Amino acid sequence: MKTVLSEEDLREGVRKLADELNEAYKGRPLTVVGVMTGCIVLLSDMIRQLKMPLRVGVVQASSYRDNTTSGKLVINSDLMLDISGRDVLVLDDIFDTGKTMVELLSTMKELGPKSLHTGVLLLKKGQQQVDYRPDYVAFEIPNEFVVGYGLDYRDEYRNLPFLAALEDHEINAAAT
Ligand code: IMP
Ligand code: MG
Repeated sequence: MKTVLSEEDLREGVRKLADELNEAYKGRPLTVVGVMTGCIVLLSDMIRQLKMPLRVGVVQASSYRDNTTSGKLVINSDLMLDISGRDVLVLDDIFDTGKTMVELLSTMKELGPKSLHTGVLLLKKGQQQVDYRPDYVAFEIPNEFVVGYGLDYRDEYRNLPFLAALEDHEINAAAT
């Protein structure tokens, strides 16, 4: 595998994202909803840099079951918190086709948030299949399958402190 973003790159990107959010919400209470499980590292690094009164919840949305192609989206919002009348920021690891985020947003809109915005660590260039772009994006990356800093391949590699692209043979080898 090859490194795409170093620990230092990630630290800097997350700091900028936090700065933007601190500026945008300026002391207004915010509810951050992290999309499990890919958000965990970003969520924990990010929230410690946010200065507004903060509530943190998570939602589970998984479409990548077992491999690198997307399947049907499953949403579990049992741990999400009440978002009715709140300023809400959905935080996810990566915006690829965008279908996960768009479907999640339409579910969340029905719960009556005062505002609903989105932040992602990564956006894969040229891969989007939806008419929506996240409000806050830390990094745009080429179309490669990446792991680390929360992102997984078959539930592994989330613990890598940097972001790496898997080579084709690593994906194929693991698939057999
Ligand atoms: P989308 O619906 O195609 O935007 O997919 C978004 C979800 O797919 C993300 O929340 C990730 O969980 C997963 N995903 C997409 N690309 C990658 C990748 O390169 N590595 C790991 N997970 C990915
Ligand atoms: Mg995900």
